[in-house]
Amino acid sequence: MEFEVKSNQLIEELRQHGIRERVLGAMKSVHRHLFVPEREQENAYGDYPLMIGFNQTISAPHMVAIMCDLLDIRDGMKVLEIGAGSGYHAAVMAVLAGSGHVYTVERIEPLALLARQNLKKAGIENVTVIVGDGSLGLPEYAPYDRISVAAASPEILDTLTDQLKIGGKLIIPVGKNYQELYLVTKTDGLKKEVKGDVVFVPLVGKKGF
Ligand code: SAH
Repeated sequence: MEFEVKSNQLIEELRQHGIRERVLGAMKSVHRHLFVPEREQENAYGDYPLMIGFNQTISAPHMVAIMCDLLDIRDGMKVLEIGAGSGYHAAVMAVLAGSGHVYTVERIEPLALLARQNLKKAGIENVTVIVGDGSLGLPEYAPYDRISVAAASPEILDTLTDQLKIGGKLIIPVGKNYQELYLVTKTDGLKKEVKGDVVFVPLVGKKGF
């Protein structure tokens, strides 16, 4: 009950930020307390990142909301996430994808296991968590309608834009200590738009830092 009150407050704050109702509905349906460690339960509905172990974080709710809003995930889409972490962001995208599917790549194996457990607890069935280097994308299931990168990348990666469908969209933070959040739309070329300043943990790996 206490969780519900805090969750409703959080959703109301996000609504004030102009996040669209479809995204708010998905965020409301995924219980963030199922994705944060025991010691952080009381902070589960605060609008800030939390440590999830291995020096990694679950992103702040407003960041998940903004990225989902910009990415415009629709029913039936095939979505790739780089950086599963706790699995929370993947869960929200999975609700938005509905009959579609989310593939999420995580390089730290224990975190991938944690994400799988959390998704199971939350009853989310349309997410596959894969251990690997997401800086190379996930060619096995390409091309994707949408790609969401949850770690700071040195550049807009060709490995990822190559794995997008025509008409597909990629959201990616680019920069070292601070980043610009890029929304990239693939048509016959690549349309690149900066959507704000953000701070993410680094993308490590072959094409990362
Ligand atoms: N989306 C997550 C938060 C991600 S934090 C959530 O909702 O909880 C960023 C994650 O990216 C970390 O877990 C980190 O281990 C992972 N990461 C960093 N570089 C990576 C790479 N090259 N491939 C896959 N995962 C990577």
